[in-house]
Amino acid sequence: MQSILYLVIPCYNEQEVLPETARRLTCKLGEMIAAGSISPKSRVLLVDDGSKDDTWALIAKLHTDNPLFSGLKLAHNQGHQNALLAGLMTARTCADMVISMDADLQDDINVIDRFVQEYYAGSDIVYGVRSSRASDTVFKRTTALGYYRFLKWMGVEIVENHADYRLMSRRALDALSQYQEVNLFLRGIVPLIGFRMSIVTYERSERFAGESKYPLKKMLAFAIDGITSFSVKPIRLVTTLGAIIFAVSLLELFYLLLLKLFGYTVTGWTTLMGSIWALGGIQLLCLGVIGEYIGKIYKEVKRRPRYVIDQLENDTTTEV
Ligand code: UDP
Ligand code: MG
Repeated sequence: MQSILYLVIPCYNEQEVLPETARRLTCKLGEMIAAGSISPKSRVLLVDDGSKDDTWALIAKLHTDNPLFSGLKLAHNQGHQNALLAGLMTARTCADMVISMDADLQDDINVIDRFVQEYYAGSDIVYGVRSSRASDTVFKRTTALGYYRFLKWMGVEIVENHADYRLMSRRALDALSQYQEVNLFLRGIVPLIGFRMSIVTYERSERFAGESKYPLKKMLAFAIDGITSFSVKPIRLVTTLGAIIFAVSLLELFYLLLLKLFGYTVTGWTTLMGSIWALGGIQLLCLGVIGEYIGKIYKEVKRRPRYVIDQLENDTTTEV
C-alpha cells in the first residue's frame, strides 16, 4: 500500500501566486498518484496565516472544487514558523509523510519525487538543500553565508543552505510535537530530533509573483532567534568580555598609580572620557544581550498557544 503524502504550505497574502501554485501541484500530485508512488488520499494542506487579502476565499474554493486541497485557517497572523507548525501538527494525524514548502513556487516541486524516494528508502527526515544561490541578491548571498558560519561558531547544528523545504515522516513529526518552545526556529529544532536523514539538492528559483513576506526587519529578528534559541554562547562571551575589561582596568590602575607617584595627576582627561564612553557602551550592549534571553524566558514561561485554529477543511475519505 502506498503512503499518504501531505504537502503543507503556509500562505500569508498569497492571492497572486496561489492559483498557479495550485495548478502546478494538481498536475504534480496527479502524476504521482497515477504512477502509484503515493496514495490517492494524499493532500495539499494550505495554511492561511491570517491573511488580509482573498487567500482564504481562494483556499476554500480550491477545497470545494477539488478534494486534493485542504485548508487550515489560523485565527490571526502568527508568522511563517508558527503557521508551518500548525500545518505540520494537523497533517501528522492523517499522513504518513509530510513535505513543507513555500507558497511562492521558489522551491522546485519536481524534487518531491526524490523526497518520496528517500522516504521509501528509509529516511525519516529529508532536507531540501539549495545547490546555488544564483537567484539571490549579492547582499542576501553574503549575509546568508556569514550567518551560517556564525551559527556554526555558536555551536548551533544546522543544515547549510536548507530553508523549510523538507520531508518528515509521521514518527519525526510526533517527536517534533514534543518540542514545546514558543520561540520557534524549526531549522534548528529538526536536526535535534535525530533519526535517519538524507539530503536532496535542488535549484531555488525566483518568487513566482507577489512580494516577499520577509522584509529585512523580520529577517533580522528571525536570524537573532536562530542564535538565541539554541546557544547561550553570547552570554558566555559577555562574561569573557567582562573578565578581559577587568584585567585591562588592573593594568590601567597600575599605570595611574605610577603617574600619581611621579606627580602627573592632571593628565588622563582623555583616558577618562574614553573609558566612560567605551565602558558605558559595552555595558549597554551586554545588558541588551542578556535582556534578549530574559525576553525569551518571559515568552516561554507564559506558555501561550503558538497558534489558534479558526477553521479546518479536510476531506480525508475521498480518493482523488
Ligand atoms: N508566510 C507566512 N506568514 C508570515 C510570513 C510569510 O505564512 O507572516 C509564508 C509565505 O506566504 C510564504 C512563506 O511563508 O509561503 C515564505 O515567505 P516568503 O516567500 O515571502 O519569504 P522569502 O522566500 O522571501 O524569504
Ligand atoms: Mg519566498
